[in-house]
Amino acid sequence: MTDMTDTCNGRTDAAVRLDGVTFSYGEASMAFDLTVEAGSITAIMGPSGSGKSTLLNLVAGFETPKSGRVLIDDRDVTHEPPAARPISMVFQENNLFAHLDVAQNVGLGRSPALRLTPSDRTAVSEALVRTGLGGKEHRLPRELSGGERQRVALARVLVRDRPVLLLDEPFASLGPALREDMLGLVADLHAERRMTVLFVTHQPEDARRIGRTMVFLEDGKITATGEMSKFFGKHGPEAFRRYIGSVAGSLQSQGIARKRT
Ligand code: ADP
Ligand code: MG
Repeated sequence: MTDMTDTCNGRTDAAVRLDGVTFSYGEASMAFDLTVEAGSITAIMGPSGSGKSTLLNLVAGFETPKSGRVLIDDRDVTHEPPAARPISMVFQENNLFAHLDVAQNVGLGRSPALRLTPSDRTAVSEALVRTGLGGKEHRLPRELSGGERQRVALARVLVRDRPVLLLDEPFASLGPALREDMLGLVADLHAERRMTVLFVTHQPEDARRIGRTMVFLEDGKITATGEMSKFFGKHGPEAFRRYIGSVAGSLQSQGIARKRT
């Protein structure tokens, strides 16, 4: 493994740690050792099927390791259910309940039974304004654009107010301009709340835009990790440069690569 890290190893206040974690789905076996600095944004990249979603699911508690431990703020949460962990997670889609309106979907971040106190309701209203959804409280998810639905998911993150945020390709189905807006929103929310963010993306420029650290996965393992700037330099890890080359190639063949001058 290429370890280019000089900031995120050996800390005692690590917000998220996978300590000798192993996991398998039948044939697909995975092994993760990772320390993520509290309050940082870490991008997770790697080929499809390399284990990015599984890594997040292990942190979230949707999967349980075969061996090893998951620690959040030095607390062993390996056997805690997702609801007991200090995390929020946003997926590419299906973050919302179709039969609940925007305000209710956000309110779930405070109370799963939607028993909201006046201060919960104030927090919901503020989060909706903060995410640009003021006036859309009573829309149903199907009455929103894809970008607006992801804003609702981020508003819910705000009212949950958990210290760890897991993002699994949340903006992958949005166009470039909208993606850029959403990344800006994530960066702003992070600056305000300082949560520890793990962000899975296929877009190198998105990783670079908001990430401080990169974690690169191949075949169920972390094969390189370190400071973002070093990944994109000419001395970046070989496998990562190969991967970036192949992503750029496939975007070009779909005719959606941005023109470079
Ligand atoms: P990524 O998010 O990097 O595309 P995943 O974490 O989803 O990768 O998958 C890692 C490996 O685990 C792949 O080989 C995938 O086919 C397998 N896998 C993922 N989810 C399941 C599942 N629910 N059941 C069986 N195999 C799965
Ligand atoms: Mg995935």
